Amino acid sequence: MIVVMKIGATKDDMDGVCKRAEELGFTPHIIYGKERNVVGLVGVMGNREEALMLENYSGVDKVVKISKPYKLASREVKQDSSVVDVCGVRFGGRDIVVIAGPCSVESEKQIVMVAEQVKAAGAKMLRGGAFKPRTSPYAFQGLGEEGLKLLAKAREVTGLPIVTEVVNPVDVDLVYKYTDMFQVGARNIQNFALLTFLGQAKKPVLLKRGMSTTIDEFLMATEYILSEGNRDVVLCERGIRTFETSTRNTLDISCVPVVKAKSHLPIVVDPSHAAGHWGYVSSLSKAAIAAGADGLLVEVHPEPEKAMSDGAQSLNPNQFITLMGELRAVAIAVGRYM
Ligand code: PEP
Ligand code: MN
Repeated sequence: MIVVMKIGATKDDMDGVCKRAEELGFTPHIIYGKERNVVGLVGVMGNREEALMLENYSGVDKVVKISKPYKLASREVKQDSSVVDVCGVRFGGRDIVVIAGPCSVESEKQIVMVAEQVKAAGAKMLRGGAFKPRTSPYAFQGLGEEGLKLLAKAREVTGLPIVTEVVNPVDVDLVYKYTDMFQVGARNIQNFALLTFLGQAKKPVLLKRGMSTTIDEFLMATEYILSEGNRDVVLCERGIRTFETSTRNTLDISCVPVVKAKSHLPIVVDPSHAAGHWGYVSSLSKAAIAAGADGLLVEVHPEPEKAMSDGAQSLNPNQFITLMGELRAVAIAVGRYM
């Protein structure tokens, strides 16, 4: 349920609503809108009948039942699009944000070099995996904490904020020490323990859609993070598994407008894991921006042929420079900037 406040309702009015909501067994979440604020009431044990009476409270316009299974992520709760700020890089605003970097952090030389290259080409954030969720237990699993230190070093050199994946709930505190944004990988979209920990952590989260997750399930996974108090979630479409085998996954481009219609949260697209081959990355990137994505997550490696993971889908630095030039034109065509 949401309590829609009147335009001009005071802080005291909202405090009064929150206090009563707590008495009724809900956790209240204040959502600040451009015109008016709403208080989201979350909690299975809350007394819904009594909550309808909040309509009589000072500053309250109306009490509305939310029809969707996800609440805080929905546009019903918040009509204005949210902007998620990661150290000054804003997702969901006018600018298209490109995050780039290798699949895995491999060495100091590799990560610092690629960070400088992607920054020069216009990327606003650096990606790189230190904990890799590999399908095979025998594949390279990442450098662990050493990889996080190298990412921090690359940030120090270039000033680019970093995003890196946390795979295991027990590593949240460790990754928190180094990263600016957590990444949740496709394989962990329904790891509810991990999502809950990240909801309590005070850093933004890049949440990737699972390879067999519907958009409603994707938004319900998001709700695990939001309902714990962390509002800074950026969604990421990275391709889903279909009968098609020509590409690694099938990029569900419709996910972008559908998420935009259903949710106020920003969404970016990862063309690299969708395509599985560098040659398709440019087309998918352009399609994503044309469809309204707020940014991209692109794998770039200084020498893709030597990469320890996902070399086949990684762009080399020159290919990335070319891509960025092409994307600027598409961004402008759809009223965005890069
Ligand atoms: C990655 O970003 O390197 C990754 C493992 O992606 P996904 O979780 O989408 O497979
Ligand atoms: Mn990868």
